[in-house]
Amino acid sequence: MIPPRFEYAAPKSVREAVDLLKSRGGEAKVLAGGQSLIPLLKLRLAAPSLLVDINRVTGLDYIRESGGFLRVGALTRVSTLNRSALLKKRYGALHDASLTIADPLVRNLGTVGGNLSHGDPSNDLPAVLLAAGGELAATGPSGDRSVRAEDFFVGTFTTALAQDEILTEARFPVPPPRSGGVYLKVEQKVADFATAGVAVQVSLDKKSEYARVGIGLTGVGPTALKATKAEAAMVGKRATDRKAAQEAGELAADASSPTTDIRGTEEYKRGLIRLLVTRGLERASQRARRGA
Ligand SMILES: Cc1cc2nc3c(=O)[nH]c(=O)nc-3n(C[C@H](O)[C@H](O)[C@H](O)COP(=O)(O)OP(=O)(O)OC[C@H]3O[C@@H](n4cnc5c(N)ncnc54)[C@H](O)[C@@H]3O)c2cc1C
Repeated sequence: MIPPRFEYAAPKSVREAVDLLKSRGGEAKVLAGGQSLIPLLKLRLAAPSLLVDINRVTGLDYIRESGGFLRVGALTRVSTLNRSALLKKRYGALHDASLTIADPLVRNLGTVGGNLSHGDPSNDLPAVLLAAGGELAATGPSGDRSVRAEDFFVGTFTTALAQDEILTEARFPVPPPRSGGVYLKVEQKVADFATAGVAVQVSLDKKSEYARVGIGLTGVGPTALKATKAEAAMVGKRATDRKAAQEAGELAADASSPTTDIRGTEEYKRGLIRLLVTRGLERASQRARRGA
């Protein structure tokens, strides 16, 4: 349980951090909350020559709405999401998910950027970003760029980030009126990773029909998944159409590829997706009608 030897740097700016990453050509790793990386080092599943601790980089810890997005700085702690009145009111899925992540100790240290950059299919925030149709901002040696969430999670523990890029911001589109989101998660025990989780983000039109539906799945594939067929099937359906919601649950379960492990069998996890997507659509549309 003793990590391998590494050098340590604590830059004060994103530029400095990027330069450090670049100087090691893939041998350096960003350290944010350390809640995923430190266990990996202790288990000797990672052995970077340099840790670039970004905790002293200023200007990466914020939650604000601007330019059509809710912008969450990469160093924002999960516990800050828990306490945000804005999230509770307008970004229900993100708020719900933040409350299901681990326990208060982990949430006090774990960051939004780390949760998304780690590329763990069992982390809860990627599905929320996928359901919202969000994007991520990154800075590397050649400048800033943005990546759509659906292009970001490319494989298990692999994202579209280059080894010398820093994730700086997660962006969730500001939802139009009559929108609602929810995150539902089944866990084996309190504070556990998801056996299966579902993020649903919906917008309703004036007739209470679905104008937009986003569905993200946690823990049932090599990455967080976007259930695109289920999303498309719901557009134009009435928010109270339970049969349509059940059919969307079937489509999402078909799109998932869970594996049997200590948390449950493949069939059980598919069953959870079926149920959670159906229930998620109902709850998200209830929130949309209440204007939450
Ligand atoms: C007991 C326990 C239970 C947990 N349960 C859950 C759970 O239920 N749900 C859940 O979602 N998560 C869970 N986690 C994971 C937790 O949320 C982590 O904090 C999170 O996945 C990583 O965030 P971090 O800030 O700690 O990142 P770190 O551990 O510091 O880094 C993780 C990875 O991301 C990279 N990285 C971090 N920040 C950046 C950045 N800004 N730019 C580029 N790369 C970056 C690092 O180099 C590293 O590869 C749990 C962790 C523990 C220890």
